[in-house]
Amino acid sequence: MEITLVPGDITEQQVDAVVNAANSSLMGGGGVDGAIHRRGGPEILEECRKLRASPFGKGLPTGQAVATTAGRLPARWVIHTVGPVYSRSEDRSGLLASCYRESLRVADELGARSVAFPAISTGAYGWPMDDAARIALEAVRQAHTQVEDLRFVLFDAAAYAVFEARL
Ligand code: ADP
Repeated sequence: MEITLVPGDITEQQVDAVVNAANSSLMGGGGVDGAIHRRGGPEILEECRKLRASPFGKGLPTGQAVATTAGRLPARWVIHTVGPVYSRSEDRSGLLASCYRESLRVADELGARSVAFPAISTGAYGWPMDDAARIALEAVRQAHTQVEDLRFVLFDAAAYAVFEARL
């Protein structure tokens, strides 16, 4: 597996699967979630609604992942995963690592060979970028997966620099 860093917007990535830093409602939100639904169109939300009816009536649990169509995005699937909200009093790094592991497990189920990840939990969920980058890189390096092309798509220059230093 080759790991690359890409500056910019994940909704422009031509890959088999794009990972969304969703929230457990699966009903859309801000940040990368908002961008994916905006660019991908209503088809994605429609599938998310069905998943909320069943099997995720109570929402997608933190650390888990599920796939939908990518709608109009230049990808085949969106893999939605729910990152943990950062906490200074509780170590939730296992849940953050689980997002990467579970997303890759779903990617393997789909037969995806190229996958683009955002820096999960580092926006609204407040995870410090350097720690999030360490956890993300460790998790994907340890994963047993068929994915050959794994990209971290970093929205701002500071995030890119942090990932570059870690890689
Ligand atoms: P979370 O709720 O998991 O923190 P956010 O979407 O708020 O998710 O932020 C996760 C990361 O995604 C942040 O570093 C943010 O800067 C970045 N981000 C926001 N929009 C995009 C985008 N279009 N492409 C790639 N990354 C993005």
